[in-house]
Amino acid sequence: MKQICSKTYNINDDIVGRITFGKSNIFCRTNEILVRKDINKPLFGYSATITENESFSGMGKPYCIVSSIEQFQEGDVVVLNKQGEIIFVYEISSNHNAIMATERCNHRCVMCPQPPILKEKDKTLFNLNLVSLFDKSTQEIGITGGEPTLIEDNLFVLIRHIQKRLPKASISILSNGVKFAEKEYAAKLAKCHHRDLQIDIPLFSDIAQEHNRIVGAKTFYKTVQGLYNLALFRQRIGLRIVVHKQTYKRLPQFADFIYHNFPFVSQVAFMQMETTGLAKDNIKELWIDPFDYNEQLREAVLLLADRGMKPYIYNAQLCILPEDIRRYAQQSISDWKDIYIPECDGCVLQGQCAGFFESNRDAHSSHIKKVENISDDILC
Ligand code: SF4
Repeated sequence: MKQICSKTYNINDDIVGRITFGKSNIFCRTNEILVRKDINKPLFGYSATITENESFSGMGKPYCIVSSIEQFQEGDVVVLNKQGEIIFVYEISSNHNAIMATERCNHRCVMCPQPPILKEKDKTLFNLNLVSLFDKSTQEIGITGGEPTLIEDNLFVLIRHIQKRLPKASISILSNGVKFAEKEYAAKLAKCHHRDLQIDIPLFSDIAQEHNRIVGAKTFYKTVQGLYNLALFRQRIGLRIVVHKQTYKRLPQFADFIYHNFPFVSQVAFMQMETTGLAKDNIKELWIDPFDYNEQLREAVLLLADRGMKPYIYNAQLCILPEDIRRYAQQSISDWKDIYIPECDGCVLQGQCAGFFESNRDAHSSHIKKVENISDDILC
């Protein structure tokens, strides 16, 4: 999540609020945080004030001094904490907003970008309040973690709440699928009757032991059962495969396995690894230049595409992909951590290319080279 630093005053507990520049009715301000470049004292009713004015007089009310208010937009939702961090939990202009259902997880994936924690206070009430602050016309919302199913039936409370408060939003849940091995749990998801919900499930190998080693748990067959149960209840499923040194060699065999065993999945995403969290800790065991797995990636992608399935390539740079699979690449990196590097200067594919995770600034392919001309058929 995007985060900026500030000097904070009179903030003891976290304050969550919707950003406003002062357009709201006086009776609707309790959940709002006023942002003004130059203001001298708090206005009535707002839960806090954010300003650039160093001589702001808080009069005992919570406020933050920032160097610039340019990063805020009317309708963003932020958390202010006493350490001075302003955390953007929702950005009105982003299509990558997500709710973290829990930071706990029952897997310990070797390349997890966000290592799980063991204990936490239940976040459901906080998340329900958060959703109520989001703009009603939100088009997409993710539910992520940790492992979202660890909040048990509260996951369905959250889905129903999103359905009610954000009726236009599609929902994408990122889950390891293990919990859906319980048929009743899969049935409960189906009973939410959400009109546009996809559940994305990572699977890392066609060999059970390999998958289990990568996720740090003996759950391959539970995830497989979860996939069948979700299909039984006609849920829309995506598969996700993070490609790294331990997974790239068998991509073609794995694609064939997916075709034969999970023909019902709506998409299969091959993902370049984000080198943060445990992926950074285990970089020696995981890193391979993405250019060097092009042969296996190409074979897997074309195998699925030729058989009528829908493969995608996430987080990849177009200049290193073989031209005949560039059309499967998606702009998939969340805006707040998406960058281009100096080698991209002048490249005609900027904007269409996914670019890089901020954390991959130093761990990226050595084959990045700007594209100066583009033939029309490369991306379509
Ligand atoms: S040079 Fe940069 S912007 Fe251009 S295709 Fe490569 S990674 Fe993408």
